Amino acid sequence: MPTYRELIQTSSLERFDAQVLLLHIVQKNRAWLITHDTDLASDEHSAAFAALAARRRIGEPVAYILGSREFYGREFVVTPAVLIPRPDTELLVELAIARAPQAGRVIDLGTGSGCIPITLKLERPDLNVAALDISTDALAVATQNAAALNADVRFLPSDWLAAVAGEQFELIVSNPPYIEANDAHLTQGDLRFEPSGALTDGSDGLQHLATIITQAKQHLVSGAWLLLEHGWDQGAACRELLQQAGYAEAQTWRDLGDNDRVSGGQWRS
Ligand code: GLN
Repeated sequence: MPTYRELIQTSSLERFDAQVLLLHIVQKNRAWLITHDTDLASDEHSAAFAALAARRRIGEPVAYILGSREFYGREFVVTPAVLIPRPDTELLVELAIARAPQAGRVIDLGTGSGCIPITLKLERPDLNVAALDISTDALAVATQNAAALNADVRFLPSDWLAAVAGEQFELIVSNPPYIEANDAHLTQGDLRFEPSGALTDGSDGLQHLATIITQAKQHLVSGAWLLLEHGWDQGAACRELLQQAGYAEAQTWRDLGDNDRVSGGQWRS
């Protein structure tokens, strides 16, 4: 019988991934591993770990194997129907929390797991929060997350803003698919398992950003902000799109990794 430590060492996985998968199987926290890593693993635990390790070895993301990922201090259910929440996106949430006026109407476009609107609603219960996605599979996951976390968010199927014709908001946010179609990352690592429709526009990466910037003008009250997550090299292009579309205060913010990550502008009509 191997010890838990030996299971991790012989898995040929990155140590952190192996630990996370093992802790999921034994249903314990990290502290337990420190004091029990030389315990013998039961056959049941060994077999279950071997099965998960095999999935990880062929590249399946840990979040899909576990079925959840932490975002802004809360656990969200994730399935292959949704993008795995990234820490980078917490910047978008922080900017939104700071800019949403009291009791404002906020909408998230392309919501995926729902991590953005659900976090906004839980951090700012005064807000009236809605979220859209073209994928009904994604909306099922987002709805499940909102129920589990007790967040009152309105979810609607929609091709960008089509489903809310005539509605106005005090803030619009989005983390749309912005990776260029020919970006090599799409065919490497964890991204291969994520929905390509959540990652890339199939073009130069700016198509959905441009569509949102144009469509949002009809839906922003005067003084309202549009905040968009984008790639590290898309800040200048985004600000230009915002300026050309007539937004004021076009600017870009950097994420914790010091990369351009969110751009936004204020609509004044
Ligand atoms: N930030 C993600 C990545 O680079 C992409 C998410 C997106 O396209 N919205 O992996």
